[in-house]
Amino acid sequence: MRALVYHGPGHKSWDEVPDPEISADTDIIVQVDATTICGTDLHILKGDLPKVRNGRILGHEAVGTVDEVGDGVRTLTPGDRVLVSSVSACGTCQFCRQARYGQCLSGEGGWVLGHTIDGTQAEYVRVPFADTSTFRVPDGASDEEILMLADVLPTGYEVGVLAGGVRPGDIVAVVGAGPVGLAAIAGAQLFSPSHIVAIDLSDARLEAAKYFGADVIVNNSRENPLQVIRDLTGDLAGRFGADVSIEAVGLPATFEMAVKLVRPGGRIANIGVHGGAVTLHLDEQWIRDITITTGLKDTSSTPTLMRLVTSGQIDAKRFITHRFGLDEFEEAYDVFANAADNGALKVVLSR
Ligand SMILES: [Zn+2]
Ligand SMILES: [Zn+2]
Repeated sequence: MRALVYHGPGHKSWDEVPDPEISADTDIIVQVDATTICGTDLHILKGDLPKVRNGRILGHEAVGTVDEVGDGVRTLTPGDRVLVSSVSACGTCQFCRQARYGQCLSGEGGWVLGHTIDGTQAEYVRVPFADTSTFRVPDGASDEEILMLADVLPTGYEVGVLAGGVRPGDIVAVVGAGPVGLAAIAGAQLFSPSHIVAIDLSDARLEAAKYFGADVIVNNSRENPLQVIRDLTGDLAGRFGADVSIEAVGLPATFEMAVKLVRPGGRIANIGVHGGAVTLHLDEQWIRDITITTGLKDTSSTPTLMRLVTSGQIDAKRFITHRFGLDEFEEAYDVFANAADNGALKVVLSR
């Protein structure tokens, strides 16, 4: 089969590789019908995730058709359409029993696809713990919209909105309006905040943020987001700010901004994948009663989000700006990596 193979920082290619095989009886092999590229894949290509070895097939998001099942798989048969979650779950370890699947203790649990085992940017993929790591695609739902449930929607919702504890009436600041920031905005508006403030350097992304529910947009190359938020809240001697800020970029400057934007007692939810150390100005923050959360998605919210997508309350198709064939990965990566120039959000590659 063909697959997108990582060859060390800065290098990847669409190579001929051996077909995946069942290695544990709880595995399945899925024919990939649609897959996508994540910002995390760009971090891998920058060398930010040294656990990813040369020769690894990238990708952790897919919708596909079950091709082969191991003898221990109970709920799936060849021909079933499934969402392959970005997180695999053994279902039995201490963390899985707490629905904290992202922290699964099993060797092939947690985020493993395209990380520590071969991933989904391929014609076929082996999925471990298939019964507890895939979701059936509802009849009538398109591959593309369900694909947004593999990572982007649960990440924005769980690691941003739920971890940040968004409540009715809150002012929510979202730093970064890429796909995951937009997913956080779409998730935040389910809780009736008073304002969602989207902050980004790209006007195209800020327009998308409006579509997903941001009522205030700030291009921080032109405007100071802290001032905009203080104008919304009343300055109160410089002590006010957002109730919740969500960091959806993964850079030192955006994390520091997210910390500065919250009021005393505010909550900062970091979603961004960081490739280096970040400064936390505790000399300023120790007195401000803030809470900082970090996390990897568990995809425990996927069934809920799937209902919201199939009922039309979240327009998952709106994330997709570019479409390619499976053999057009080089071009798709170029478009996705240069999102600022071409307005790309999610790119979908389909069979
Ligand atoms: Zn991802
Ligand atoms: Zn587990």
